[in-house]
Amino acid sequence: MQGDFFLNQLITGHGTVGAHQARLLKKSPSCQCGHPTEDRQHIIYQCPLRNSIRYKHLPPNHSSISMNLIFANNKSKKGLIEIMKIKLQSALQPIEGEDDPSH
Ligand SMILES: [Zn+2]
Repeated sequence: MQGDFFLNQLITGHGTVGAHQARLLKKSPSCQCGHPTEDRQHIIYQCPLRNSIRYKHLPPNHSSISMNLIFANNKSKKGLIEIMKIKLQSALQPIEGEDDPSH
């Protein structure tokens, strides 16, 4: 375990990770990008919404690097923390249309 709140969510796959919220809170496991399951694999390696952060912080060959090695790299960690901060912020936003009085 490493001492970062955001990184730990990704290491454990808990917190705002969609697949976890689905198990725990019966929320949709899907990602904002439309992918049916938002899990660690998707967030770290695949999600197109995270491309800019991934390319800025993760090594160019990250798709062939194991998660554990990515977690152990300081520059990559910074990028993953940034991704999780953005995810948490958007998880705290009201769902679009939820406050719409016409509903
Ligand atoms: Zn996605």
